[in-house]
Amino acid sequence: MLQSQKQALRLRRSVLSNLGVFSLLLLCWLASHLGYFVIPTAHVLVLTSMMWLGHGVFVLIIALSGNLRFKDASMTLPQMVWVTSCISVLMCFLHDIRPLMLMGYLLVMSFGAFRLSIRGFYGFTLFTLTCYFASLMWVYQHRPEDIELSQEFFVFVGFGLSLCGFVLMGNEFSNLRQSLGERHRELKGAVSRIEELAITDELTGLYNRRYLMQMLSQQRALANRSRYGFVVCYLDLDHFKKVNDKYGHPFGDKVLKSFANLMTNSLREVDLGARIGGEEFVLVLADTNLDAAHGVCQRMAEKWREMRFPEAPELKLTLSAGITAFKSPETIEQILERADSLLYDAKHRGRNWIEVEQQELQVTFDFEDDSQQSA
Ligand code: GH3
Ligand code: MG
Ligand code: MG
Repeated sequence: MLQSQKQALRLRRSVLSNLGVFSLLLLCWLASHLGYFVIPTAHVLVLTSMMWLGHGVFVLIIALSGNLRFKDASMTLPQMVWVTSCISVLMCFLHDIRPLMLMGYLLVMSFGAFRLSIRGFYGFTLFTLTCYFASLMWVYQHRPEDIELSQEFFVFVGFGLSLCGFVLMGNEFSNLRQSLGERHRELKGAVSRIEELAITDELTGLYNRRYLMQMLSQQRALANRSRYGFVVCYLDLDHFKKVNDKYGHPFGDKVLKSFANLMTNSLREVDLGARIGGEEFVLVLADTNLDAAHGVCQRMAEKWREMRFPEAPELKLTLSAGITAFKSPETIEQILERADSLLYDAKHRGRNWIEVEQQELQVTFDFEDDSQQSA
Protein backbone atom coordinates (compact mmCIF):
# COMPACT_ATOMS: atom_id res chain seq x y z
CA MET A 1 0.00 0.00 0.00
CA LEU A 2 1.27 3.47 -0.84
CA GLN A 3 2.26 5.76 2.04
CA SER A 4 -0.48 8.24 1.06
CA GLN A 5 -3.11 5.48 1.08
CA LYS A 6 -1.91 4.29 4.51
CA GLN A 7 -2.07 7.83 5.81
CA ALA A 8 -5.61 8.26 4.46
CA LEU A 9 -6.65 5.05 6.23
CA ARG A 10 -5.10 6.23 9.53
CA LEU A 11 -6.89 9.54 9.23
CA ARG A 12 -10.20 7.81 8.45
CA ARG A 13 -9.88 5.57 11.52
CA SER A 14 -8.91 8.46 13.74
CA VAL A 15 -11.82 10.61 12.52
CA LEU A 16 -14.14 7.65 13.12
CA SER A 17 -13.01 7.27 16.71
CA ASN A 18 -13.27 11.04 17.15
CA LEU A 19 -16.91 10.78 16.05
CA GLY A 20 -17.28 8.00 18.62
CA VAL A 21 -15.98 10.33 21.35
CA PHE A 22 -18.38 13.01 20.10
CA SER A 23 -21.35 10.64 20.42
CA LEU A 24 -20.16 9.89 23.97
CA LEU A 25 -20.29 13.64 24.59
CA LEU A 26 -23.91 13.77 23.40
CA LEU A 27 -24.83 10.69 25.41
CA CYS A 28 -23.31 12.17 28.57
CA TRP A 29 -25.06 15.46 27.98
CA LEU A 30 -28.39 13.60 27.73
CA ALA A 31 -27.57 11.45 30.76
CA SER A 32 -26.74 14.60 32.70
CA HIS A 33 -30.11 16.10 31.79
CA LEU A 34 -31.77 12.94 33.02
CA GLY A 35 -29.89 13.25 36.30
CA TYR A 36 -27.47 10.39 35.99
CA PHE A 37 -24.43 12.55 36.76
CA VAL A 38 -23.45 13.73 40.22
CA ILE A 39 -21.97 16.96 38.80
CA PRO A 40 -23.82 19.81 37.03
CA THR A 41 -24.52 19.52 33.28
CA ALA A 42 -22.18 22.44 32.54
CA HIS A 43 -19.32 20.54 34.19
CA VAL A 44 -20.21 17.41 32.25
CA LEU A 45 -20.14 19.42 29.03
CA VAL A 46 -16.75 20.99 29.83
CA LEU A 47 -15.31 17.62 30.79
CA THR A 48 -16.58 15.76 27.72
CA SER A 49 -15.63 18.64 25.40
CA MET A 50 -12.08 18.55 26.76
CA MET A 51 -11.99 14.82 26.10
CA TRP A 52 -13.31 15.28 22.59
CA LEU A 53 -10.89 18.13 21.80
CA GLY A 54 -8.05 16.11 23.37
CA HIS A 55 -8.78 13.33 20.94
CA GLY A 56 -9.01 15.91 18.16
CA VAL A 57 -5.29 16.57 18.74
CA PHE A 58 -4.57 13.03 17.44
CA VAL A 59 -6.67 13.69 14.34
CA LEU A 60 -4.80 16.94 13.79
CA ILE A 61 -1.38 15.29 14.21
CA ILE A 62 -2.31 12.63 11.63
CA ALA A 63 -3.82 15.21 9.26
CA LEU A 64 -0.55 17.19 9.43
CA SER A 65 1.52 13.97 9.01
CA GLY A 66 3.20 14.53 12.38
CA ASN A 67 2.44 10.88 13.20
CA LEU A 68 5.03 9.68 10.67
CA ARG A 69 7.76 10.49 13.19
CA PHE A 70 6.50 7.79 15.56
CA LYS A 71 7.26 4.09 15.44
CA ASP A 72 3.56 3.25 15.34
CA ALA A 73 2.37 5.86 12.87
CA SER A 74 -1.30 4.94 13.45
CA MET A 75 -0.96 6.11 17.10
CA THR A 76 -3.55 3.46 17.98
CA LEU A 77 -2.35 2.80 21.52
CA PRO A 78 -2.15 6.46 22.64
CA GLN A 79 -5.64 7.09 21.22
CA MET A 80 -7.01 4.03 23.00
CA VAL A 81 -5.35 5.03 26.27
CA TRP A 82 -6.81 8.54 25.98
CA VAL A 83 -10.39 7.43 25.33
CA THR A 84 -10.29 4.69 28.00
CA SER A 85 -8.94 7.14 30.57
CA CYS A 86 -11.69 9.61 29.63
CA ILE A 87 -14.38 6.95 30.05
CA SER A 88 -12.92 6.02 33.44
CA VAL A 89 -13.02 9.66 34.60
CA LEU A 90 -16.66 10.03 33.46
CA MET A 91 -17.51 6.85 35.28
CA CYS A 92 -16.43 8.43 38.56
CA PHE A 93 -19.25 10.98 38.27
CA LEU A 94 -22.00 8.64 37.16
CA HIS A 95 -24.40 6.69 39.24
CA ASP A 96 -26.93 4.01 38.33
CA ILE A 97 -25.90 3.70 34.66
CA ARG A 98 -22.19 3.26 35.34
CA PRO A 99 -22.06 -0.20 33.63
CA LEU A 100 -23.18 1.51 30.39
CA MET A 101 -19.66 2.91 30.15
CA LEU A 102 -18.26 -0.61 30.02
CA MET A 103 -19.55 -0.82 26.46
CA GLY A 104 -17.36 2.17 25.67
CA TYR A 105 -14.36 0.21 26.98
CA LEU A 106 -15.23 -2.72 24.69
CA LEU A 107 -15.68 -0.42 21.70
CA VAL A 108 -12.20 1.01 22.29
CA MET A 109 -10.80 -2.53 22.51
CA SER A 110 -12.33 -3.40 19.14
CA PHE A 111 -10.29 -0.59 17.53
CA GLY A 112 -7.13 -2.16 18.92
CA ALA A 113 -7.91 -5.51 17.32
CA PHE A 114 -6.87 -4.04 13.94
CA ARG A 115 -3.52 -2.70 15.00
CA LEU A 116 -2.15 -3.95 18.31
CA SER A 117 0.19 -6.88 18.65
CA ILE A 118 -1.02 -9.65 20.90
CA ARG A 119 1.28 -8.39 23.68
CA GLY A 120 -0.09 -4.89 23.26
CA PHE A 121 -3.59 -6.28 23.42
CA TYR A 122 -2.89 -8.14 26.70
CA GLY A 123 -1.28 -5.03 28.13
CA PHE A 124 -4.20 -2.85 27.15
CA THR A 125 -6.72 -5.30 28.62
CA LEU A 126 -4.87 -5.05 31.92
CA PHE A 127 -4.84 -1.27 31.63
CA THR A 128 -8.63 -1.18 31.02
CA LEU A 129 -9.33 -3.41 34.01
CA THR A 130 -7.06 -1.26 36.18
CA CYS A 131 -8.85 1.92 35.04
CA TYR A 132 -12.23 0.40 35.75
CA PHE A 133 -11.08 -0.78 39.17
CA ALA A 134 -9.59 2.64 39.95
CA SER A 135 -12.90 4.36 39.04
CA LEU A 136 -14.81 2.01 41.33
CA MET A 137 -12.34 2.69 44.13
CA TRP A 138 -12.71 6.42 43.62
CA VAL A 139 -16.49 6.20 43.77
CA TYR A 140 -16.26 3.94 46.83
CA GLN A 141 -14.07 6.49 48.58
CA HIS A 142 -16.17 9.55 47.71
CA ARG A 143 -19.69 8.10 47.50
CA PRO A 144 -19.67 4.75 49.27
CA GLU A 145 -23.48 4.71 49.18
CA ASP A 146 -23.26 4.40 45.36
CA ILE A 147 -21.41 1.09 45.52
CA GLU A 148 -23.25 -2.11 46.11
CA LEU A 149 -20.29 -4.42 46.64
CA SER A 150 -21.78 -7.77 45.54
CA GLN A 151 -23.38 -6.19 42.44
CA GLU A 152 -20.18 -4.37 41.47
CA PHE A 153 -18.24 -7.57 42.00
CA PHE A 154 -20.47 -9.48 39.56
CA VAL A 155 -20.33 -6.72 36.98
CA PHE A 156 -16.55 -6.55 37.37
CA VAL A 157 -16.17 -10.32 36.92
CA GLY A 158 -18.62 -10.31 33.97
CA PHE A 159 -16.71 -7.47 32.37
CA GLY A 160 -13.41 -9.25 32.99
CA LEU A 161 -14.78 -12.35 31.24
CA SER A 162 -15.97 -10.26 28.29
CA LEU A 163 -12.47 -8.83 28.04
CA CYS A 164 -11.08 -12.37 28.00
CA GLY A 165 -13.35 -13.06 25.03
CA PHE A 166 -11.96 -9.93 23.37
CA VAL A 167 -8.41 -11.07 24.06
CA LEU A 168 -9.14 -14.41 22.38
CA MET A 169 -10.67 -12.60 19.43
CA GLY A 170 -7.71 -10.22 19.33
CA ASN A 171 -5.44 -13.25 19.24
CA GLU A 172 -7.32 -14.57 16.23
CA PHE A 173 -7.13 -11.17 14.56
CA SER A 174 -3.43 -11.00 15.22
CA ASN A 175 -2.86 -14.47 13.68
CA LEU A 176 -5.04 -13.54 10.73
CA ARG A 177 -3.14 -10.30 10.24
CA GLN A 178 0.16 -12.13 10.42
CA SER A 179 -0.82 -14.74 7.83
CA LEU A 180 -2.33 -12.02 5.63
CA GLY A 181 0.92 -10.08 5.94
CA GLU A 182 2.90 -13.16 4.91
CA ARG A 183 0.59 -13.78 1.93
CA HIS A 184 0.96 -10.15 0.97
CA ARG A 185 4.76 -10.39 1.09
CA GLU A 186 4.70 -13.63 -0.94
CA LEU A 187 2.40 -12.06 -3.51
CA LYS A 188 4.58 -8.97 -3.73
CA GLY A 189 7.61 -11.21 -4.31
CA ALA A 190 5.75 -13.15 -7.00
CA VAL A 191 4.59 -9.98 -8.72
CA SER A 192 8.08 -8.49 -8.77
CA ARG A 193 9.42 -11.82 -10.10
CA ILE A 194 6.78 -11.78 -12.85
CA GLU A 195 7.64 -8.17 -13.63
CA GLU A 196 11.30 -9.12 -13.80
CA LEU A 197 10.55 -12.07 -16.08
CA ALA A 198 8.46 -9.86 -18.34
CA ILE A 199 11.44 -7.62 -19.07
CA THR A 200 14.30 -10.12 -18.85
CA ASP A 201 15.78 -12.53 -21.34
CA GLU A 202 15.66 -15.91 -19.65
CA LEU A 203 18.94 -17.31 -20.97
CA THR A 204 21.26 -14.37 -20.44
CA GLY A 205 19.51 -12.29 -17.78
CA LEU A 206 19.84 -9.23 -20.02
CA TYR A 207 16.79 -7.11 -20.78
CA ASN A 208 14.53 -8.35 -23.56
CA ARG A 209 13.14 -6.63 -26.64
CA ARG A 210 10.00 -5.42 -24.84
CA TYR A 211 12.01 -3.56 -22.21
CA LEU A 212 14.40 -2.23 -24.84
CA MET A 213 11.47 -0.68 -26.73
CA GLN A 214 10.15 0.90 -23.51
CA MET A 215 13.54 2.36 -22.66
CA LEU A 216 14.11 3.58 -26.21
CA SER A 217 10.78 5.40 -26.05
CA GLN A 218 11.87 7.07 -22.81
CA GLN A 219 15.25 8.02 -24.23
CA ARG A 220 13.55 9.38 -27.34
CA ALA A 221 11.17 11.50 -25.24
CA LEU A 222 14.14 12.89 -23.29
CA ALA A 223 16.12 13.62 -26.44
CA ASN A 224 13.13 15.31 -28.09
CA ARG A 225 12.84 17.71 -25.16
CA SER A 226 16.45 18.73 -24.71
CA ARG A 227 19.93 18.59 -26.20
CA TYR A 228 20.36 15.14 -24.69
CA GLY A 229 21.60 12.50 -27.14
CA PHE A 230 21.93 8.77 -27.13
CA VAL A 231 23.49 6.14 -29.35
CA VAL A 232 22.18 2.74 -30.41
CA CYS A 233 24.60 -0.11 -31.18
CA TYR A 234 23.29 -3.20 -32.91
CA LEU A 235 25.61 -6.16 -32.22
CA ASP A 236 25.64 -9.61 -33.79
CA LEU A 237 27.98 -12.51 -33.05
CA ASP A 238 29.71 -13.69 -36.21
CA HIS A 239 29.20 -17.19 -37.57
CA PHE A 240 27.40 -18.26 -34.47
CA LYS A 241 25.56 -21.01 -36.30
CA LYS A 242 28.93 -22.68 -36.86
CA VAL A 243 29.59 -22.58 -33.09
CA ASN A 244 26.32 -24.40 -32.48
CA ASP A 245 26.93 -26.87 -35.30
CA LYS A 246 30.45 -27.71 -34.18
CA TYR A 247 30.14 -27.67 -30.38
CA GLY A 248 26.46 -28.22 -29.79
CA HIS A 249 23.57 -26.03 -28.70
CA PRO A 250 24.30 -26.16 -24.91
CA PHE A 251 27.78 -24.85 -25.57
CA GLY A 252 26.25 -22.16 -27.81
CA ASP A 253 24.11 -21.13 -24.86
CA LYS A 254 27.19 -20.89 -22.68
CA VAL A 255 28.84 -18.65 -25.27
CA LEU A 256 25.77 -16.41 -25.34
CA LYS A 257 25.80 -16.11 -21.54
CA SER A 258 29.50 -15.25 -21.59
CA PHE A 259 28.86 -12.53 -24.10
CA ALA A 260 26.01 -11.19 -21.96
CA ASN A 261 28.39 -11.03 -18.97
CA LEU A 262 30.98 -9.24 -21.01
CA MET A 263 28.36 -6.75 -22.16
CA THR A 264 27.06 -6.12 -18.64
CA ASN A 265 30.58 -5.53 -17.34
CA SER A 266 31.37 -3.11 -20.17
CA LEU A 267 28.37 -0.84 -19.60
CA ARG A 268 27.80 2.04 -17.23
CA GLU A 269 24.76 2.02 -14.94
CA VAL A 270 22.95 4.48 -17.17
CA ASP A 271 23.40 2.32 -20.27
CA LEU A 272 21.24 -0.57 -21.28
CA GLY A 273 22.07 -3.91 -22.86
CA ALA A 274 19.35 -6.12 -24.34
CA ARG A 275 19.21 -9.42 -26.18
CA ILE A 276 16.68 -9.03 -28.93
CA GLY A 277 17.15 -12.25 -30.83
CA GLY A 278 19.25 -15.43 -30.95
CA GLU A 279 22.75 -13.90 -31.10
CA GLU A 280 21.70 -10.31 -31.61
CA PHE A 281 22.10 -7.61 -28.98
CA VAL A 282 21.36 -3.92 -28.72
CA LEU A 283 23.15 -1.37 -26.57
CA VAL A 284 21.60 1.96 -25.73
CA LEU A 285 24.32 4.32 -24.57
CA ALA A 286 22.91 7.30 -22.73
CA ASP A 287 24.29 10.82 -23.15
CA THR A 288 26.99 9.57 -25.51
CA ASN A 289 28.35 10.53 -28.92
CA LEU A 290 29.35 8.26 -31.80
CA ASP A 291 33.08 8.34 -30.98
CA ALA A 292 32.55 7.29 -27.38
CA ALA A 293 30.11 4.58 -28.45
CA HIS A 294 32.61 3.32 -30.97
CA GLY A 295 35.21 3.11 -28.19
CA VAL A 296 32.84 1.04 -26.05
CA CYS A 297 32.07 -1.40 -28.88
CA GLN A 298 35.71 -1.65 -29.85
CA ARG A 299 36.74 -2.58 -26.31
CA MET A 300 33.98 -5.17 -26.21
CA ALA A 301 35.05 -6.61 -29.57
CA GLU A 302 38.66 -6.87 -28.33
CA LYS A 303 37.64 -8.67 -25.18
CA TRP A 304 35.38 -10.94 -27.20
CA ARG A 305 38.23 -11.92 -29.48
CA GLU A 306 40.36 -12.70 -26.45
CA MET A 307 37.66 -14.87 -24.91
CA ARG A 308 38.62 -18.58 -24.67
CA PHE A 309 36.59 -21.57 -23.57
CA PRO A 310 38.26 -24.67 -22.08
CA GLU A 311 35.87 -26.92 -24.04
CA ALA A 312 36.89 -25.27 -27.32
CA PRO A 313 40.40 -23.79 -26.92
CA GLU A 314 40.77 -23.23 -30.65
CA LEU A 315 37.53 -21.25 -30.94
CA LYS A 316 37.98 -17.57 -31.76
CA LEU A 317 34.95 -15.37 -31.63
CA THR A 318 34.21 -12.08 -33.30
CA LEU A 319 31.32 -9.74 -33.53
CA SER A 320 29.99 -7.14 -35.91
CA ALA A 321 28.18 -3.97 -35.00
CA GLY A 322 26.29 -1.02 -36.43
CA ILE A 323 26.38 2.23 -34.48
CA THR A 324 24.10 5.20 -34.95
CA ALA A 325 22.98 8.25 -32.98
CA PHE A 326 19.39 9.32 -32.42
CA LYS A 327 18.17 12.10 -34.65
CA SER A 328 15.21 13.92 -33.20
CA PRO A 329 12.32 13.53 -33.93
CA GLU A 330 12.69 10.17 -35.65
CA THR A 331 10.88 7.10 -34.33
CA ILE A 332 12.56 4.29 -32.43
CA GLU A 333 11.79 1.96 -35.33
CA GLN A 334 13.75 4.28 -37.62
CA ILE A 335 16.86 4.36 -35.42
CA LEU A 336 16.75 0.58 -34.97
CA GLU A 337 16.38 0.05 -38.73
CA ARG A 338 19.36 2.32 -39.36
CA ALA A 339 21.49 0.48 -36.78
CA ASP A 340 20.42 -2.84 -38.32
CA SER A 341 21.33 -1.70 -41.81
CA LEU A 342 24.76 -0.50 -40.56
CA LEU A 343 25.22 -3.95 -39.02
CA TYR A 344 24.29 -5.45 -42.38
CA ASP A 345 27.03 -3.31 -43.99
CA ALA A 346 29.50 -4.52 -41.33
CA LYS A 347 28.65 -8.13 -42.18
CA HIS A 348 29.16 -7.36 -45.86
CA ARG A 349 32.57 -6.00 -45.15
CA GLY A 350 33.51 -9.47 -44.04
CA ARG A 351 32.40 -9.42 -40.38
CA ASN A 352 34.60 -8.62 -37.33
CA TRP A 353 33.75 -5.05 -38.18
CA ILE A 354 32.18 -2.06 -36.49
CA GLU A 355 30.29 0.18 -38.85
CA VAL A 356 29.75 3.66 -37.49
CA GLU A 357 27.24 5.96 -39.09
CA GLN A 358 28.80 8.21 -41.79
CA GLN A 359 32.28 6.92 -41.05
CA GLU A 360 33.95 3.61 -41.31
CA LEU A 361 36.16 2.57 -38.46
CA GLN A 362 37.96 -0.69 -38.64
CA VAL A 363 38.59 -2.54 -35.39
CA THR A 364 42.20 -2.17 -34.36
CA PHE A 365 42.98 -5.62 -33.00
CA ASP A 366 42.54 -8.20 -35.73
CA PHE A 367 43.67 -11.73 -35.11
CA GLU A 368 45.41 -13.92 -37.64
CA ASP A 369 42.37 -15.82 -38.98
CA ASP A 370 42.15 -14.53 -42.55
CA SER A 371 38.57 -15.58 -43.03
CA GLN A 372 37.56 -13.19 -40.24
CA GLN A 373 39.37 -10.16 -41.60
CA SER A 374 37.51 -7.09 -42.61
CA ALA A 375 38.44 -5.21 -45.73
P1 GH3 B 1 26.32 -14.14 -39.14
O1 GH3 B 1 27.77 -13.96 -38.96
O2 GH3 B 1 25.88 -13.74 -40.51
O3 GH3 B 1 25.52 -13.47 -38.09
O4 GH3 B 1 26.04 -15.68 -39.03
P2 GH3 B 1 25.38 -16.45 -37.86
O5 GH3 B 1 25.62 -17.89 -38.02
O6 GH3 B 1 25.81 -15.86 -36.56
O7 GH3 B 1 23.86 -16.06 -38.02
P3 GH3 B 1 22.61 -16.92 -38.34
O8 GH3 B 1 21.45 -15.98 -38.29
O9 GH3 B 1 22.79 -17.68 -39.62
O10 GH3 B 1 22.51 -17.94 -37.18
C1 GH3 B 1 22.20 -17.58 -35.89
C2 GH3 B 1 22.27 -18.80 -35.07
O11 GH3 B 1 22.04 -18.54 -33.70
C3 GH3 B 1 21.26 -19.83 -35.49
C4 GH3 B 1 20.65 -20.35 -34.22
O12 GH3 B 1 20.73 -21.73 -34.10
C5 GH3 B 1 21.50 -19.73 -33.15
N1 GH3 B 1 20.74 -19.42 -31.98
C6 GH3 B 1 19.67 -18.60 -31.87
N2 GH3 B 1 19.22 -18.57 -30.61
C7 GH3 B 1 20.01 -19.39 -29.89
C8 GH3 B 1 20.04 -19.79 -28.51
O13 GH3 B 1 19.27 -19.36 -27.67
N3 GH3 B 1 21.01 -20.66 -28.13
C9 GH3 B 1 21.91 -21.15 -29.02
N4 GH3 B 1 22.83 -22.01 -28.59
N5 GH3 B 1 21.88 -20.81 -30.31
C10 GH3 B 1 20.97 -19.94 -30.75
MG1 MG C 1 25.36 -13.83 -36.18
MG1 MG D 1 21.93 -12.72 -36.42
